Amino acid sequence: AEKIRPLIIGCEQKVPTLSGEMKPYINFDNAASTPSFKPVLEAINQFMPWYSSIHRGAGFKSQLSTLVYDKTREIVLQYCKAEPQFHTVVYGKNTTELVNKVSKRLMTADDEFVLTTRMEHHSNDLPWRYHQKALFVEVDEKGRLDLEDLRRKLKAYKGKIKLLAMTGASNVTGYINPIYQAAQMAHEYGAQILVDAAQLAPHRPLDMKAQDDPQHIDFLVFSGHKIYAPFGQGALIADIAFLEQGMPDQVGGGVIDIVDNDYAYWTSPPDKDEAGTPNVVGALALARALQVFQEIGLDVIVEHEKELTRYALQKMKEIPGITIYGSDDPQEVDDRLGVITFNLDGYYHAFVSAVLTYEHAIGVRNGCFCAHPYLKRLLKVTPEQNAAFEQRLKEGDHSDIPGAIRMSFGIYNTKQEIDRFIQALKDIKNNKIAGLYRQNKATGEF
Ligand code: PMP
Repeated sequence: AEKIRPLIIGCEQKVPTLSGEMKPYINFDNAASTPSFKPVLEAINQFMPWYSSIHRGAGFKSQLSTLVYDKTREIVLQYCKAEPQFHTVVYGKNTTELVNKVSKRLMTADDEFVLTTRMEHHSNDLPWRYHQKALFVEVDEKGRLDLEDLRRKLKAYKGKIKLLAMTGASNVTGYINPIYQAAQMAHEYGAQILVDAAQLAPHRPLDMKAQDDPQHIDFLVFSGHKIYAPFGQGALIADIAFLEQGMPDQVGGGVIDIVDNDYAYWTSPPDKDEAGTPNVVGALALARALQVFQEIGLDVIVEHEKELTRYALQKMKEIPGITIYGSDDPQEVDDRLGVITFNLDGYYHAFVSAVLTYEHAIGVRNGCFCAHPYLKRLLKVTPEQNAAFEQRLKEGDHSDIPGAIRMSFGIYNTKQEIDRFIQALKDIKNNKIAGLYRQNKATGEF
C-alpha cells in the first residue's frame, strides 16, 4: 500500500468531523467508485490540448484523436485477452448502459429466455426482465450461486436459453462466481454468456479466452469509474458478428455508411453502436487505468486485498453482535473480494453509517446496494415484512428500510485504516457516540 498510495489521487485528504476536528478520510466505498490513478490524470492532461472530434475531421488533431481512440480499443482487447479478429470494444457511459445495449439488441424469440441470477446488481437484472423473458438461478443461504440450479435450468430449458447473464463478483457479499465453469455449462446447452465484470475488473485479471475454448466469455462489461479512472466511460467487449446483426439501439451521427431520404445503411461495429461524438478522453482514461493495473501487477493487487480482507474479517468477528452476510471466514478469501456487508445488532444501518461518516471520517455505504432481491434474501426479510416496508415507502416513510452496511477495499487501503474502522465500530457498540442524530423521515437521512 505504501508504494501504491502515491499513485492514487486524494487518499491523504482530511475532512471535517462533528467534533470540529479534521480527520484523515478513509474511503471504504471502493465498490461504488474508486479514486483516480495519478498516471490516468497525467495521461488526460497530456492529451487535453490535442483532443478533437474523431473520424470525421481531416485535421491533425482530429487524426491524432482518432489514433488515440483506436489505440485504447487495442489496449482493452489485449488486457481482456480478447481476439481482435472476433471481438471489438463498444464504449458507453457505464456498465448499466452497455448491459441495456446488449439486452435491447438480443431480441429473443417468444419461446426463448435469458437466464440470470438472484445475486445480480439491478443493472444486470432489470434490463433482462425489461427486454427479455428472464429466468433466475438461485443462491444458497449465504448468497453463493447455486451451480446445481444453474445446470438444472440450462438442462430444463435446453435450446431455449439464449444467454446466461451473470455477475463476475457480487457487489454485496464479494463472492466471485465460477464464470468459466458457468461459461462451459452455458455453451454445452447452446447459450452464450455475458459477464458483468463491474466488480471483478478492479480486483482480478480479465480473460475472455479463445473462442474455440468451451470456457470462453461472449460478452464482458465493466466501468472505468471502478478501475481508478474518472466517471463517464464503460466498455463492452463483444463478438463483431453479434454486433453486425440488428439495429443499433441509438441512431444518429456516426452509426451509418449511407443515408438518403428514405433509407439508411448502418456502418460496421463498433461505430454502429456508438451514436454521436464519443468520449475519447474517457476511453483514454479507462485504457490507461488498465495499463496501470499491469504496471502494478494484478498479483500484487490480489495479494494485498486478500490480506486486508483476512485482517478485517478476523477483527470484525471479535465484535459482539455483528452479523456478516456471505462468508465471514478469514481463511476463505480466495474466491471473494474485499467487500464486506454487515449489521450491528440494535443499530440501524443508516445510523451506523452516519456515525462513521460524521464522527470518524470513514466513508462506507448503507442500504440495499442496488441489489434489493439479493440483500432481502440475505437479511431473511419475510414477505409480510417486505409488504409492510413497501407500504411505508409508498407513504413516504423512509425511516426503517431493510439494509446493511458495506465496506469495500481498494488497492490503496491499509491495515491501519481497518484498525481505525474497528475502533469506531467498538465505540458505537459501547455507545461512545458524541453527536446527536435525528433521522429526517422524508429523506431517511441523519
Ligand atoms: N454491476 C455491478 C456488480 C456493480 O457493482 C455495479 C455498480 N455498483 C454495476 C453493475 C453498475 O455499474 P455502473 O453504475 O457503472 O453502470
